[in-house]
Amino acid sequence: MLQPVRREKKCRACPTRFIPSRPLQVACCPDCAQTLARRNREKAEKRAATIERQKTRAALEALKPRAKWLAECQAIANRYARVRDAKDGCISCDRPASWQGQWHGSHFRSVGAASAVRLNLWNIHKACSICNHHLSGNIAGYKPRLIQKIGLEKVEWLESQNQVVRHGIEYLKRYKRVMGKRLRMLEKRNAMQG
Ligand SMILES: [Zn+2]
Ligand SMILES: [Zn+2]
Repeated sequence: MLQPVRREKKCRACPTRFIPSRPLQVACCPDCAQTLARRNREKAEKRAATIERQKTRAALEALKPRAKWLAECQAIANRYARVRDAKDGCISCDRPASWQGQWHGSHFRSVGAASAVRLNLWNIHKACSICNHHLSGNIAGYKPRLIQKIGLEKVEWLESQNQVVRHGIEYLKRYKRVMGKRLRMLEKRNAMQG
């Protein structure tokens, strides 16, 4: 009966070289076997912790994107209003389109008071930064010009929008896609008209 030839190999836990007495033996002695077992356990624990961290991060990201989508949609809506009203002066005061300061997309109903119409383009119009930032929209000046611009009916409708609306991610994704496209077309048209 031929004994299987076992070749000398290096212990996985220490520098010793040894001849295994059974197949698949990777440690030279019980102590080293224990060391290896501990290392494996630690590796498994580390792997489990990493998976746990990844799960937590995924859960956080599932929350984060809505705010991010909303901010992106708001930026598109505000920009759309500025580009649409490029030739107009401020909606809240007499500063003309030729005014050299900063122009904003200004909400008639504020984002905080009327979440339902925060992305509604009837509700956002070009305004000078002085009215928008320093006079909180200058609503006293805003309303009469808005009635002139879009009509009393739409202004009254905007004023009735007091329900709290939390736009979902799917809605926001669609809004960004559709309005982003409309914005790019509007910008192109404006650029061609000079
Ligand atoms: Zn060893
Ligand atoms: Zn103004």
